[in-house]
Amino acid sequence: MTTQTLFISDLHLDIQRPDILALFFKFIQEQAPLADSLYILGDLFEAWIGDDDDAEICQTVKAALKPLTEKIPVFVMHGNRDFLLGKQFEQDTGCQLLPEQHTLDVYGVSTLLMHGDTLCTDDVAYLQLRQTLHHPLWQQDFLSKNLDERRLMAQQLRQQSQAAMQSKSEEIMDANPQAVETAFQQHKVQRIIHGHTHRPQIHTTDVAGTRVERVVLGDWYQQGSILVCDAQGCHLSVYE
Ligand code: MN
Repeated sequence: MTTQTLFISDLHLDIQRPDILALFFKFIQEQAPLADSLYILGDLFEAWIGDDDDAEICQTVKAALKPLTEKIPVFVMHGNRDFLLGKQFEQDTGCQLLPEQHTLDVYGVSTLLMHGDTLCTDDVAYLQLRQTLHHPLWQQDFLSKNLDERRLMAQQLRQQSQAAMQSKSEEIMDANPQAVETAFQQHKVQRIIHGHTHRPQIHTTDVAGTRVERVVLGDWYQQGSILVCDAQGCHLSVYE
């Protein structure tokens, strides 16, 4: 049997979309256990207000991940929605959280993993907000509030983000070519895999005379989207 590593992101799991939740459960029960490892590159959840959230969706997803991590390693990166996933989540699920930039060797190809939001450098307003939300003091203050207060704040942040997105152009919300080139050069990798923009595609370009590949993962809105990598390379596949 050929060995494979799977990459997914931007599932935005939410009780509002039970069909996608069911699809994710099918994926982690049927396809994922056959892989070498699974990488979830951010925005697994539509929102994450703290590892102590007692909402049913948090409990069921955590319970579903546990048997998978007993079979294969599962790595999780923060997205812009679930950046508060923490140590208790790791303990409850057996998943391992990754730093916001992580390099690894994927069957001989040096690869940088990231969520992708930090590549969208034209979205200055979002990057400013991100700085606030990632500040340890903001997070400490937020997590000290009770769950109802946190739910309300998270809802307000989502509404603000939706309103802001309506006034932003498609270009502003895409990866900036210069930021992409800088990431390739800084990390000296042959491949970058990221999500966030919901524009699944494999781009090949030259950076400083070297052929490189940027893989953009798809979201899980209409169907699932999985990147399958093996010794032959990577390809995006639709999962339904
Ligand atoms: Mn995102």
